[in-house]
Amino acid sequence: MIITRFAPSPTGNLHIGGLRTALFNYLYARAKGGKFLLRIEDTDFARNSVDAKEGILRAFEWLGLDYDGTIEYQSKRLALYKQQIQKLLDSKAAYYCYMSKDELETLREEQRKRGETPRYNRKYRDFEGVPPERIAPVVRLKAPLSGEIVIDDKIKGKVSIQATEIDDFIIARSDGTPIYNFSAVVDDALMGVTDVIRGDDHLSNTPKQILLYQALGFPVPRFFHIPMICNESGKKLSKRDGAMGVMDYAQAGYLPEALLNFLVRLGWSCGDEEIFSKQTLLQIFDVKDINTAPSAYNPSKLLWLNHHYLNAQSNDSLRALLEPFGISIEPQIAEILFPALKERCKTLVEMKEHYLEIMNPPVYDKKLFAKNVQQGALDVLAQSFEILQSLAFDDAQTLESAFTQNIAPNKPFLLLRLALLGKGGGVPIFVAMMALGKDESLRRIAELRSAIAADLGVDCSTQ
Ligand code: GLU
Repeated sequence: MIITRFAPSPTGNLHIGGLRTALFNYLYARAKGGKFLLRIEDTDFARNSVDAKEGILRAFEWLGLDYDGTIEYQSKRLALYKQQIQKLLDSKAAYYCYMSKDELETLREEQRKRGETPRYNRKYRDFEGVPPERIAPVVRLKAPLSGEIVIDDKIKGKVSIQATEIDDFIIARSDGTPIYNFSAVVDDALMGVTDVIRGDDHLSNTPKQILLYQALGFPVPRFFHIPMICNESGKKLSKRDGAMGVMDYAQAGYLPEALLNFLVRLGWSCGDEEIFSKQTLLQIFDVKDINTAPSAYNPSKLLWLNHHYLNAQSNDSLRALLEPFGISIEPQIAEILFPALKERCKTLVEMKEHYLEIMNPPVYDKKLFAKNVQQGALDVLAQSFEILQSLAFDDAQTLESAFTQNIAPNKPFLLLRLALLGKGGGVPIFVAMMALGKDESLRRIAELRSAIAADLGVDCSTQ
């Protein structure tokens, strides 16, 4: 059985790179009828953050990524790591190292001066003497002195590292807590993880982890190191490129299905297809289709996908999706407005803005208003008012054709837009009228008339 896991360190916001890793692990396990585990790697007590952990859980919930069993917290498994460290100490595969920070720094400084790569000199590897006092030792692994370590990576291919490249690295800090490489290996092994899919920034950890699997006598899982997500100029993705925390996407009005679809295509493909629902992915996702080249983050594609998924929503689900944005829309207004909003808006936030622009009292565009401070505008508005007053507000199309037949030869649409929406653009004006209703539409027309008349210094009530 395939067992994968997502193992975030809760030290900061979950970003889309991390989420993509989670998604690949999730989809692979689910598509193969395996298990997907969630493990919080919180052994770096100084950098742990409760907010970060909660952000991860919220993101999982928002995207509907379910995991098997309960969440494992490494902070609750310290005794287990200690046991495994002891096992290595007992078998002399690991040892206590008493080198102080200062001594290590001096050593590194000297190596740097000699043009060597700074590294620990194995001083305590076979130490049998009396340990120095008042130094709480770290634990180091006895790494092999020769030979090579081969990573049979399922994306990168075979990667060989000379053993001499790896020094006796620390596996437990002086307070006894394990280092990431150690706890991750112990957990992956004891949790039966068969496939490790993670960012290729971890590739340099993998030889160390392979040595640990071997030292502990555990089978080595399959590794998939996925290329990073970069910006459109091929550089590492940064906040400036729009890479936000996962929940920022929710706040910016993206739908979870759009973000999932977007992320899965960052590094995975299936023919030329772009649209993938989660249901489809759960059937077809396979690690063999993960790309070897880095993928570029393209914000306009995310918007395009979001638009696609917004369009697919029923009126009721859109109303529900807009609720968290403080917008509660009556079903009959939704029916009038949603087709026009869906056409124009790519995010829920844009929908909210368009909706409020229609429903809130208009704030007149200064230039457009100034252009219409003239008697002609007053006449057109008066005429429009009269015609609209005589018409039934049944639906936008009937209203528009009845109005247009009567108003000729004047074309007062820009003025009506100014009256109702305060500006030139926006949704089709008769759709806005239907949403506002007859009374409010007429009231807004009368109000613009009064405002223009006041500027012209005429009394429009007598006209
Ligand atoms: N805690 C590590 C991280 O967040 C996990 C890496 C791994 O998947 O092994 O980067």
